[in-house]
Amino acid sequence: MRATSEAGVSGEKERSCTFCDIVQEKLPVSKIEETDKIIVFASLSGYPLIAPKKHVDNVFDERLDKEVVHELAEMEVRVARAVRSAFSVDAVNIISANGKAAGQQVNHYHIHIMPRTANDNQIKLGKEVILPRPELDLRADLVKTRLNEQLPPHV
Ligand SMILES: [Zn+2]
Repeated sequence: MRATSEAGVSGEKERSCTFCDIVQEKLPVSKIEETDKIIVFASLSGYPLIAPKKHVDNVFDERLDKEVVHELAEMEVRVARAVRSAFSVDAVNIISANGKAAGQQVNHYHIHIMPRTANDNQIKLGKEVILPRPELDLRADLVKTRLNEQLPPHV
């Protein structure tokens, strides 16, 4: 069993983390699936959350390694298909909040697989401001530049 502090940066002790406690079975949880690297369990609202077992704050945390990212992506697809069938819905949102302003409440990276029905008054996407093409090109270029600077190919 991995101690929470072992996952900390340069030996710094991780502050208490609800999801690390869940991984270490210090807190009860309704477990759905797990691998060596990943745990899937029911949120308090009853839909699945997928999280890496090793503590990482969110996508900005450099401790998030490639193998975990790949496993998370595969698990998202599997769990989304299971949710669609299990809850008899036609739609799911796959969402993660990264940072306080995005609504991240637990500081341990996790992905919500939310079953959706029409008019369920959950998160609404597609209501954003629509920008003119030159502004779209500019923003696309800004991200493209950073992407090319920061990520080696095939990560
Ligand atoms: Zn944690």
